Amino acid sequence: MVETRLIDGKAAAAALRQRVAAAAADLAARYATVPSLAAVLVGEDPASEIYVRSKAKATREAGLAGIEHRLPAATSEAELLRLIDTLNADPAIDGILVQLPLPPQINPQRVIEALDPAKDVDGFHPRNVGRLWSGGEALVPCTPWGALLLLRQAMGALAGADAVVIGRSNIVGKPMAALLLAENCSVTLAHSKSRDLPALARRADILVAAVGRAELVRGTWIKPGAVVIDVGINRLPGEGGKSRLVGDVAFAEAQGIAGAITPVPGGVGPMTIACLLRNTLLAACRRRGLPAPEV
Ligand code: NDP
Repeated sequence: MVETRLIDGKAAAAALRQRVAAAAADLAARYATVPSLAAVLVGEDPASEIYVRSKAKATREAGLAGIEHRLPAATSEAELLRLIDTLNADPAIDGILVQLPLPPQINPQRVIEALDPAKDVDGFHPRNVGRLWSGGEALVPCTPWGALLLLRQAMGALAGADAVVIGRSNIVGKPMAALLLAENCSVTLAHSKSRDLPALARRADILVAAVGRAELVRGTWIKPGAVVIDVGINRLPGEGGKSRLVGDVAFAEAQGIAGAITPVPGGVGPMTIACLLRNTLLAACRRRGLPAPEV
């Protein structure tokens, strides 16, 4: 029986936010520069509303400037692209975040490709994706970067580890695989067509689940001592008509098998916004030719 450590994403995110705040204060003092993030929300998706509000709060708390653009659900793609052009051209804006999902009349890929890659703090623009895979200076997607920070904290060096990532989305799975490869892990990227997923998962020293299926990963899928990163956020009916959040990993079953695991909530989730602040800071420094702080 292994003793399973809890990887505390809340504490790690608070520490990262503090480092960003300290670096932002230093930028303000030395160069009179305040990094600024423009968040664009189209429509009234309640989950997106919550994300944008918490991002705005975190931005202010870190001493960065936040600007919100709220557009009606009926906004056309051309109108949104015009706003992106304006934000791209505005020298006072360092980062642009377009909250996904977008309404059906708007093609998200066209919007992502319209962003100035230097302001693409989500790291979704093809230039940032290419640089991530080819080893250049990229803005890296926030959730996988946050997951990597938690892995480094839990394990120290990752080189040589067998890593299995379940889920191959552009937002989480693929950039996670690129980051683990850059850390010299041997990476398997699994998905819904993978054969014998439990056997694949059991090979992993590092198991990342980014699927969106409640408790898909059972305790028997986990190699004893493996470090498990649960990216999934799934809402299930809870007591008294309330919903409860669970991850993609059966958390209770993982106890006594995994060496360490992130909880849901309180694991990867809080890291995402903290990494967005970090990306905004980096984008500001790179755009303005200032030395980028190590955060
Ligand atoms: P997507 O729906 O875009 O991708 C899901 C991936 O899982 C796909 O690659 C899909 O495979 C794979 N998949 C689906 N079902 C299975 C299965 N039964 N077995 C193996 N693989 C399967 O999701 P995202 O990557 O956007 O998000 C994944 C999860 O992470 C969600 O729960 C989401 O809420 C959460 N999330 C959390 C964030 C955070 O801040 N903590 C941020 C972003 C996401 P295929 O490609 O073959 O269809």
